[in-house]
Amino acid sequence: MMTPEKLQGSLEKIRTFLQSEILPLESEFLRRPFRELLSLLREKRGKAKALGLWTPHLPEKLGGLGLSLSEFARVSEELGRTPLGHYVFNCQAPDIGNMEILIENATADQKQVWLEPLIRGDIRSCFSMTEPEFAGSNPVWMSTAAVKEGSDYVLNGHKWFTSAADGAAFAVVMAITNPDAAKPHHRASQIIVPTNTPGFRLVRNIPVMGHEGEDYLSHAEIRYENCRVPQQNLLGQEGEGFTLAQQRLGPGRIHHCMRWIGICERAFEMMCSYAARRQLAPGQPLASRQIVQEWIAESRAEIVASRLMVLQAAEKIDKEGSRAARQEISLIKFFVAGVLHKVLDRAIQTHGALGLTNDSLLSYWYRHERGARIYDGPDEVHKSVVARMILKEYGVEISI
Ligand SMILES: Cc1cc2nc3c(=O)[nH]c(=O)nc-3n(C[C@H](O)[C@H](O)[C@H](O)COP(=O)(O)OP(=O)(O)OC[C@H]3O[C@@H](n4cnc5c(N)ncnc54)[C@H](O)[C@@H]3O)c2cc1C
Repeated sequence: MMTPEKLQGSLEKIRTFLQSEILPLESEFLRRPFRELLSLLREKRGKAKALGLWTPHLPEKLGGLGLSLSEFARVSEELGRTPLGHYVFNCQAPDIGNMEILIENATADQKQVWLEPLIRGDIRSCFSMTEPEFAGSNPVWMSTAAVKEGSDYVLNGHKWFTSAADGAAFAVVMAITNPDAAKPHHRASQIIVPTNTPGFRLVRNIPVMGHEGEDYLSHAEIRYENCRVPQQNLLGQEGEGFTLAQQRLGPGRIHHCMRWIGICERAFEMMCSYAARRQLAPGQPLASRQIVQEWIAESRAEIVASRLMVLQAAEKIDKEGSRAARQEISLIKFFVAGVLHKVLDRAIQTHGALGLTNDSLLSYWYRHERGARIYDGPDEVHKSVVARMILKEYGVEISI
């Protein structure tokens, strides 16, 4: 597939930078708590800024590269080859989604206070929607409420899996503001809550797959207990929370899928090079076994297919918007997450016991990316969206 000319120089620069500055940090990253690497990473972020490649997803007037979604997708794949890539260039989830939402919906004051420092990388943010007591796959069903009192909103509720909340300066919180709205989609709003507001209680970083998680790599349980913020912290209009959430999900799924393809490419390289050098007996590399050759061929086919599917979806969003690309977005979300798992699993199997050790990026990704088949909509939800849309053409209407 051709790389757009506009991107060639930038991709080359990113590749060289990651190779020389970031990949050498990976073994430290696997061994030490993330917080201990922060000052080193700050220095690397400074270098990414100096290269002119900081926040590549943003329009040029905000300091980014002014790329379309399908162009940024190529950058996201390149950055995905290392777990530190997106963070070092300040285009990591959930900040990237929050930046996009703030650019489209924030007031001038909100932009000055929250968006500008977020773009500079001075602060981080999180997105707080899912609740333990309600099925997250039904995004209009929740209990956290924001009630107006004087000139404030008072929030009460219980959230979890608020990624990167530990150390974030603010949360974008989804809360019910209009419980009597006729349509469930019009009941919730998004409200900016600074994390130092009294009543914002980070209960714990939830241990996930054997790891505590901290800072940007955390998933927090949070209680909002009479948490009071000015009504000016409302994002967009009251009752628009679900619409705003939908806005972030189309591009967000492209970003994730391309990052996963970057992971697949790296795991694939590791699989091939280990199969070539690991000797089963003198003169008999692992790669001489047909089953390993099958893993290599299947993985290559699936990665290429994934990339084409994601770029096609991104182009459709670029031309016609996320709504028109609903089916394509759901297709890539479950398909590429599945490919990611197959490729990682084959790469681990190729490495034998070595693949399971904490010294290996493979085991980090296997653990860390299991969530890919759950967040931003579980596989089953996306499969059902696709099937429903197709079956509608056959006269079958299936309600959720
Ligand atoms: C790593 C990670 C990071 C996350 N980060 C954030 C974050 O930053 N902010 C945030 O607000 N949330 C976040 N989440 C939460 C995520 O959005 C939810 O986990 C997701 O929406 C699914 O909701 P649930 O976990 O409540 O599962 P449920 O909705 O309870 O579903 C459970 C299971 O039921 C099945 N299922 C659900 N619906 C259907 C259906 N229609 N048909 C068939 N089967 C179905 C699926 O297999 C699903 O896995 C994160 C989750 C993970 C794993």
